[in-house]
Amino acid sequence: MERIAVITSGGDAPGMNAAIRAAVRTGIGRGVTVFGVRNGYEGLMEGSLFEADSIFVGGIIGRGGTVLRSGRSERFKTAEGVAAGAEHLKSRGIQGAVIIGGDGSLRGARELSLTSGIAVIGVPASIDNDIPGTATSIGFDTAINTAVEAADKIRDTAYSHDRVFVIEVMGRQNGFIAVETGLASGAEAILIPEVPYSLDDICVRLTSGHDKGKKSSIIIVAEGATSAAKVRDVIAEKTGYEVRYLVLGHMQRGGNPTAWDRVLATRFGSAAVQALMAGRTREMVGFDGKQITYTPLDDVLSTRRTVDPEKLLLAEVMAQ
Ligand code: ADP
Repeated sequence: MERIAVITSGGDAPGMNAAIRAAVRTGIGRGVTVFGVRNGYEGLMEGSLFEADSIFVGGIIGRGGTVLRSGRSERFKTAEGVAAGAEHLKSRGIQGAVIIGGDGSLRGARELSLTSGIAVIGVPASIDNDIPGTATSIGFDTAINTAVEAADKIRDTAYSHDRVFVIEVMGRQNGFIAVETGLASGAEAILIPEVPYSLDDICVRLTSGHDKGKKSSIIIVAEGATSAAKVRDVIAEKTGYEVRYLVLGHMQRGGNPTAWDRVLATRFGSAAVQALMAGRTREMVGFDGKQITYTPLDDVLSTRRTVDPEKLLLAEVMAQ
């Protein structure tokens, strides 16, 4: 394998740059020519490729977002789109691609490989951490640290004014960000899309905590469960407490990656290139808590990651 390409696709995640840097420098170190693809699959179909050198990836390890830029593309979901993208790789003699992104991007990677024969290795990058085959994906640690920092700041003012605060975090389909943020910030309740909840029960818990002398309460809501505004309205009406809410929104996506995400992304980016050079394809690199792993994309894309119910129970015990 003498020529490979690196693509970032789908939702951006802090740490993508560290993965790009690692892929480029690992490739160059092994005598491989590495091409960067701009703007995800859309750029691939337009032939927006360039030879990435070591200088191009200098100084980016600590920057959020992706210097290659990212995007979503409906056209790449069609056979014609995938064929157009594959053609641009083949015309430059590129035999393998490292594709950094979420599950949609990994689906696209599998299609690209199946229809063109180009080898692909996926690198899981998603602030939601919803990709099976890895304990954490690139960006998750940064996102939860951003959310926890916000919750800590809110806690200060909530305590000073004896208030209830409802904080909405990202997670349309799942509560991974909400559960970690709630556990780390000592939330009184965590609402996630996967588990039914009762606002009546939460009001009882808040009242009993207040009666015991608790000076502040924080409730973490994953956006897919309900909205923070709705939770605020119900709790304010039922308890009579002063309740405020905050939607963290896109600030969870940005920012400098944590040390964890930088190291994880560096290991993933490098392992992906080494996998291509070892002749592997249609696999995703991952981390099982101990070491780097390789999981077939077929397995990654046919399973679902679920929130650990023990963590939710633990959060309830801690909220007593
Ligand atoms: P993420 O990678 O963050 O999960 P998306 O789900 O939006 O983000 O997917 C990113 C892009 O991957 C899509 O815009 C599309 O171009 C491509 N993609 C997703 N599913 C497929 C598919 N089944 N076949 C080909 N390309 C796909």
